[in-house]
Amino acid sequence: MLRKNRLFTPGPTPLLPSAQNAMAAFGMHHRTADFRTLYTRTLADLKAFIGTNNDCLLLASSGSGAMEASISNLTSPGDTILVLTAGKFGERWADLGKAYGCKVEMVKAEYGQTFPLEAVRQKLSADVRVVYMQATESSTGVRHDVAGVAKLLRDSKHEALLVVDAITGLGTTKFDVDGWGLDIVIGGSQKAVMIPPGLAYLSVSERAWQRMESTKSPRYYFDLRKERKAASKGESAFTPATSLIAGLGAAFDFIRAAGNGDLAAGRDLLIANAELAAAMTRAAASALDLQLYAPTAPAAALTAIIPPAGIDSGVFVKGFREMFDAVIANGQGDMKGKLFRIAHLGYFDYLDTIAIIGGLEQVTAKVTQRKSFEFGVAVRAAQQIYADANGIAYEPAGALASAKA
Ligand SMILES: *Cc1c(COP(=O)(O)O)cnc(C)c1O
Repeated sequence: MLRKNRLFTPGPTPLLPSAQNAMAAFGMHHRTADFRTLYTRTLADLKAFIGTNNDCLLLASSGSGAMEASISNLTSPGDTILVLTAGKFGERWADLGKAYGCKVEMVKAEYGQTFPLEAVRQKLSADVRVVYMQATESSTGVRHDVAGVAKLLRDSKHEALLVVDAITGLGTTKFDVDGWGLDIVIGGSQKAVMIPPGLAYLSVSERAWQRMESTKSPRYYFDLRKERKAASKGESAFTPATSLIAGLGAAFDFIRAAGNGDLAAGRDLLIANAELAAAMTRAAASALDLQLYAPTAPAAALTAIIPPAGIDSGVFVKGFREMFDAVIANGQGDMKGKLFRIAHLGYFDYLDTIAIIGGLEQVTAKVTQRKSFEFGVAVRAAQQIYADANGIAYEPAGALASAKA
């Protein structure tokens, strides 16, 4: 059959057509009134999307640029920071902290797990200046308890700031940024907002701005105070990634329209969409006797699946590519070969989800060469999850057959 190239990776994700059109048509100079209008509107939309009254900023970098800015702006060399890590992106916080001369304390959980709050409590000594974590660890597919960590900090009246890499958390997970007291929340353009890589965005609390007045780590391009000052005039400190900003504006229009004119409602719909696609995919994997890599606290952003014993996960990645020209992600670092990842964040709908699950059945049948393989079990499991979520009545599997017998 024909094959259509499709992305099912947790970044980059499929592009929103209206955003692609907006980007292709864009040719505005950035120091003009028209651009200032677009920039100001996009920053306001960003606040609604993240769900905060804090200042929001856009940076011309991938998401890691905002991660670096959250270290360089909030710390001084020698500061103690606490990194909560259970995967490759958590380890990035530790690497960044070390690069800026911080004393890095860590709470580690095994890949595929999340850390118990008790372990965080024990490591939260008085000298910790900032706590860094992921909302969802995209390398393992686990969801961390941001609300729990934030509450722990609030209840203990600890002075530490809380920085959340929500690069795959935004648009897949609910946050009460201001209520929980999240000081920095970071997103990236190539994830749930359905546009290409190249923009990082973040919200910054008043406490974080105050901290920046006394911190001494070097910073120049990513000096957030400079960006804040420029943003207040509808500009960026340096040449902005103008066409991506036009694309982001179009994406927010799409999300707002999905929410009947309410951007926050549209974002909640995007979250529910990812949650349902993830639940369908987990049920499908179980029906195929495939184990989940992060079964106890699975994220909605993506699902990480362990291949059957003796089969490298690269075989599944290659299978999807060769049979369907679909791109899924292998494991990263030590996890390469041990898991494959299917994304749900952003521009995926019901039909995409059923299609990738149908593809998973074909690839599994082909690469495992099981003696007997029953097609439809994964699709059926996913269909039931969808029907349950949408109040569609059906006879549970097997009930019809046994009623006839
Ligand atoms: C994608 C991702 C990043 C890295 O973002 P880049 O845009 O590649 O720099 C960081 N953290 C998480 C959780 C991610 O999913």
